Amino acid sequence: MPKTAASDNPGATITQLTPMMEQYLRMKDKAGDALLLFRMGDFYELFQDDAVVASKALNIALTSRNKHQDDPIPMCGVPVHSIEGYIESLVEQGHKVAICEQIEDPKQAQGLVKRDIIRVITPGTIISDNALQPKENNFLASVAVAAQGASFAYIDVSTGTFAVTAWMGGNRTQALEREFDRIQPRELLVPEPPPVPISLLQQPPGTFNTTFQAWERDHFRRERAYQLLTRQFGVRTLEGFGCEDNDLAIAAAGALLAYVQSTQQATLDHLQGLKFYSTSDFMVLDETTRQHLELVQSAWSQKRTGSLLDVMDMTVTAMGGRLLRQWLSQPLYVLQPLQERQDAVAELVEQSTTRATLRQTLETVADLERIVGRVSFGSVSPRDLVALRHSIQALPAVEACVRNGQSAWFIERAVQWDSLADIEHRIAQTIVDEPPASLRDGFVIRPGYDPELDALRDADALGKDWLSAFETQERERTGINSLRIGFNKVFGYYIEVRKTHADNVPDTYIRKQTLVNAERFITPDLKEHEVRMLRSGEHATRLEQELYDALRQELLQHTARLQDMAQLLSQLDVLASLAELAVTRQYCRPTLDLSDRLDITDGRHPVLETTYQDERFVPNDTRLDCETNQILLLTGPNMAGKSTYMRQVALIVIMAQMGSFVPAEAAHIGLADRVFTRVGAQDLLAKGQSTFMVEMTETANILHNLGSRSLVLLDEIGRGTSTYDGISIAWAVVEHLHHHPTAHPRTLFATHYHELTVLATSLERVHNFNAAVREWGEKVIFLRKILAGRADRSYGIQVARLAGLPLTVIERARQLLAQFESADNAQAVPSSPPQPASAQRQLSLFDHASDHLLQELRNLSIDDLSPREALKTLAELQQRAKRLP
Ligand code: ADP
Ligand code: MG
Repeated sequence: MPKTAASDNPGATITQLTPMMEQYLRMKDKAGDALLLFRMGDFYELFQDDAVVASKALNIALTSRNKHQDDPIPMCGVPVHSIEGYIESLVEQGHKVAICEQIEDPKQAQGLVKRDIIRVITPGTIISDNALQPKENNFLASVAVAAQGASFAYIDVSTGTFAVTAWMGGNRTQALEREFDRIQPRELLVPEPPPVPISLLQQPPGTFNTTFQAWERDHFRRERAYQLLTRQFGVRTLEGFGCEDNDLAIAAAGALLAYVQSTQQATLDHLQGLKFYSTSDFMVLDETTRQHLELVQSAWSQKRTGSLLDVMDMTVTAMGGRLLRQWLSQPLYVLQPLQERQDAVAELVEQSTTRATLRQTLETVADLERIVGRVSFGSVSPRDLVALRHSIQALPAVEACVRNGQSAWFIERAVQWDSLADIEHRIAQTIVDEPPASLRDGFVIRPGYDPELDALRDADALGKDWLSAFETQERERTGINSLRIGFNKVFGYYIEVRKTHADNVPDTYIRKQTLVNAERFITPDLKEHEVRMLRSGEHATRLEQELYDALRQELLQHTARLQDMAQLLSQLDVLASLAELAVTRQYCRPTLDLSDRLDITDGRHPVLETTYQDERFVPNDTRLDCETNQILLLTGPNMAGKSTYMRQVALIVIMAQMGSFVPAEAAHIGLADRVFTRVGAQDLLAKGQSTFMVEMTETANILHNLGSRSLVLLDEIGRGTSTYDGISIAWAVVEHLHHHPTAHPRTLFATHYHELTVLATSLERVHNFNAAVREWGEKVIFLRKILAGRADRSYGIQVARLAGLPLTVIERARQLLAQFESADNAQAVPSSPPQPASAQRQLSLFDHASDHLLQELRNLSIDDLSPREALKTLAELQQRAKRLP
């Protein structure tokens, strides 16, 4: 009986609801903020607001139900057979989708068909293969925050990767943001309401394609989370995972698990454990540095092409590709595992045959992690299982290579080796060699595996024999040679006779259908046979499904073994890839230690050098330490190669701390705990981030957070403002880095203000270098060589000429420059270094009236300023500077 809708149901203003709409509204209530796809026969339908949103997102027609009544309900639908594509598209656009199925056979249902939500698909939990990138993880992350600290957990549901970290005290906001940037989750769970003001929890960052998901705070309660995790992993305590006592880590991981469970509504047997990691084991890279250095995507195009990852990735498996990306996003700051990786790479560099065999063999290995995931979700296809079998068959060849290895990494892995032979055997026994794509197509189970199935199949074959015998017999009986047996879905098997022979049809035939040229008949014999055949056919299908599922259940028992080997193979793939890279590009093995040395001989830019073919990329040396060569002040005209040089140094350090060889003749690298970069305004203009404010905020961040083990790259500080402002700020920053009371971080400082070179004479750890150019008549030639000593001038006009500025403009500029220079000479560009105390007199770049301002700037204790205060002060100073004559 139709009932009145609850008044708070949106869109339910119609007074009378059909029972089905009532069921719909109940389901919609359960689905919450997800779009509800409501199964009705051969379609999934969406209603009300969902229909409006989905029709737009999918570009399909919006219609309405009850068109002719006062309150038509907006509606749209998608056919069941192509649903996956539609789901992927909705999720790709950041929507959450709930699938509501008919959970009983409509033919058997009494009254309304029972329906329920069987799964929810969200951006962070989607597992369909089409929606995933083979060489990228799809992460769902969560954040838990309390007064004393914060934690960050992430999971890739498709592979089973599950990790968590936590920080106590300190600057948790920045730490959180850094992990967020590294992982780039597709979806982020935050407690609702957010417990403490943390920017990441309040405003969804726009850089990545992240969907925000508020998740009831209750799910973050420690007790609840603890229980959920221990039950999932089948353990009594979380000690084995290293986070037994870490309440925040437990909260973040538990909330994540609860969310995955609620969306998948399936067993998650491939989630076997949780990895607790400490960010102090890794090099700190903040978002700006990742972007500036173009580690995994180009800053310009936001694509992988042109990134360091793109150049370094020579992996041959999807799993290896994902792991390499992780290594690159998270370089190590611990010596021992680094040396282990290096030893393994070195061995593979030496052993070229082993390396080739390894890579060829690994190429045949499928994405085991994701196949194991699909085994757990029950969506594993027969072809997946055959791919798994072929992958296992490749293992003996890989094992031989591993057993040959001399270094610790190989020895350890040889001990852990698992041939998985029993699993291979079980699959080979059960599944045919070339199964159809889907289990429904039948003939997936190998003949001889199950006698009952064989008997049913025999019956089926016998049935077919019977049919052809029947056909022959009827032809002879009736004398109609063109008589044939056919089958259609509507009335099963039939006898077809051309109309021209209609007179010869026996009386016993029962007419079923008349076509233009032919008539179709059945006989009792034929029908009886048909029932028998269908019965055995259905039975065979069902049995085949049962046998398949039994195998799947059996494989589930081996999840951990498969995952361990998948992990091992992906590491091996990455190590072999690094070795291949080292050989192909002629890299060297860097010496690593915990000293402050940074010595690079003939270093090259790993990405840029690959674009050079005929011309040669010019290699350069670097010597930095904390004691004597702390700051390299790099001058030279625009386009001379300063930025390239600085980035190449940072990239070499990062590669070294992944365990990779590096593009240089020789390198000695004292590990860096952190790489800071600040890249000049115009270099990021393309991204619309060139404001002076951003530049100063980033600089402030560096000056506040640097430590003695940091590597600092400052490129064109102060370019975003007027010349005198810019020089002053750059000057003060160099002094600050030099005079820092606790840390003398290794620093590369590039500037086109050649005036700054005087600093080298007064500050003992500052040294001038310049990107050499040669004048050739009117022109400049860039030598791309970084040499000791300072640049004598900016060559701005020559560069402008090179860029094709009209000659009249060039000429006029030359005249003006001559005038300015002679005028300036009266006041003199500083030729001797200003002493800190009396500097303002000698730094006569500035006229007398601004001395006061300069003094203030110099006395500014940048250390004690927050970024916000720094900006405010700066803005004030600038305001006052503008008012000067
Ligand atoms: P700057 O920062 O001094 O303005 P860049 O580092 O941006 O100069 O370099 C400008 C261009 O010079 C680069 O895009 C590259 O094509 C070329 N270049 C830089 N360094 C080298 C080098 N070592 N060898 C060859 N070409 C180089
Ligand atoms: Mg530059």
